[in-house]
Amino acid sequence: MARLDVVIDHPRVACWGVAALSQILKENPHEHRANRQPDEGESDSRIRLVGRLGYCVSCPERVRHHDPSVRFAEQAQEPCGQRYNMRLVRMKANIEIDAGGKTFAAGLLPDLIAALRHSEPGDLLAITSSEASVGADLETWCRFTRNTLIDSSSEAGRTRWVIRCGAPPQDPDGSRPIGTRLWLYTNFDCNLECDYCCVRSSPTAPRRALGLERVQRIAAEAAQLGVREIFVTGGEPFLLVDIAGILTACAAAALTTVLTNGMLFTGHRVEALRSLPRDRVTLQISLDSPTPELHDRHRGRGTWARAWEGIERARAEGFRVRLAATVSSDAEAEEFRRFLDAHRITEENRVIRHIALRGFAAEGIALARADLVPEVTITAGGVYWHPVGAEDADLLVTSEIFPLAESFAAVRRDFDREREHARRLATIFNCA
Ligand code: SF4
Repeated sequence: MARLDVVIDHPRVACWGVAALSQILKENPHEHRANRQPDEGESDSRIRLVGRLGYCVSCPERVRHHDPSVRFAEQAQEPCGQRYNMRLVRMKANIEIDAGGKTFAAGLLPDLIAALRHSEPGDLLAITSSEASVGADLETWCRFTRNTLIDSSSEAGRTRWVIRCGAPPQDPDGSRPIGTRLWLYTNFDCNLECDYCCVRSSPTAPRRALGLERVQRIAAEAAQLGVREIFVTGGEPFLLVDIAGILTACAAAALTTVLTNGMLFTGHRVEALRSLPRDRVTLQISLDSPTPELHDRHRGRGTWARAWEGIERARAEGFRVRLAATVSSDAEAEEFRRFLDAHRITEENRVIRHIALRGFAAEGIALARADLVPEVTITAGGVYWHPVGAEDADLLVTSEIFPLAESFAAVRRDFDREREHARRLATIFNCA
C-alpha cells in the first residue's frame, strides 16, 4: 500500500493527519476525506486525495508527519479545477535577515543586534542561512538574550529560523505546581471553525476521542496524583454523546471546568448538562467581544447571539459560568473588561487571553516550549506540554498516557531540563 504522508481535509494542512487518515480509510473508504485517487504511475511517496469538496493534495517527499517545518499550507487553485496543492507556508516575520556566509563567529551578531534595535517586543525576526553552526549558536544566543527561538524550517539546503523579540507576556499562574491542573482534549472536532483555533478544530476535523473508559482511568489516577482541577476541552466537548459520563468522572476526581462555545445546549445535550453536579462543574463559555461584530468575524455569523443564549441557559440551569474571550489586542481586552464590569462579572469568572500563533491562527503571540510553564495536557495522541499546542510536535512530551504518574514525571523531567539550561546560562554570565 502506498505510504500516507499527510492529509488535508481543509485548505490548510493538518500535520497530525497521518494516523487519522489511516483510521478513516480503514473505517470508511468512501468518506470524502479518504477518497484516494492516485494518478497512474504515481509513486509511493506521492498520494492524492480528491474529495467531495474537491480537496486534493500532492505530498512532496520533504513533508513528513511531525516535521516541525510544516505548519499549515494555503490553498492554491490549479487551472484544471478544484485542486489544492500543499505548499509550505512560512511564518511571517517583521524583519528578514539573509545571513549569506556569515556566522556568529564572522559578522552575524552585529546584524542581529541592529535588527533588534528596530524591533518592538513581540516582533518576529527571521534569519536564513546555509551555515549549519548558526542554528545551535542562535539557540544559545536567544537564551542568553531572553529572546525566543520560535520556529525553524529548511528548504533547498538553507534553514530559516524565526525568533520572537523580547520575553513572553508574564504568566500570572506561572508559580502553580506542575500536575495540580490537568487538561483533557476529548475529541478535537467542533461545530465551529474559528479562524484562530490553536488546534485546528472544525466540523471536518477527524474525531480523535479520548473516550469514556480512558477518561475514567485518567480521572481515577489523577485523583491519586493530587490533581486539583481538571479542564475538559474539545474541539467542542458537547458534540460527544458520552459527555455527561466524561464530566461526571472528572468531577468525581477534581473540580472540573468544561470549555465550550455554548451553542449546543438543546435536546439531549441539555439533559447531559442537567445531570452534572453544579458544585463540581463550571462552564467556561467563549465570548470574544461585547457585541457580535468581532466575535462573529472570528467564529462565524450568528455565533455571538447563540453563545449568549447558551450563557443564559447555563446560568438558568444553576451553573457557575466563566466567560472566556480570545482577543488580538490590548484595546480589545480593555473593551471586553469594561463589558464584564458592566455585567458585574467577577475576576474569577472571567478569562481574557491573546490569540496564540498556533493552529489556524495567522497572527498572534508566538510561543515556544521555553516560554510556557507546563500544564499537563492529554489528548488521544499523547501527553503535551501545554493546551495551547496540543497537537504540535514541539510540545509533545510522550505518546504514552499511562501510567499517569509516569506521564507527569516525564513533563517534570523536561521542565527540569529547561530550567537547568537556563541556570547554566545564568552561571556562565555570572558577573560578580
Ligand atoms: S476555538 Fe473552540 S469553538 Fe472555535 S473551532 Fe476551536 S475548539 Fe471550536
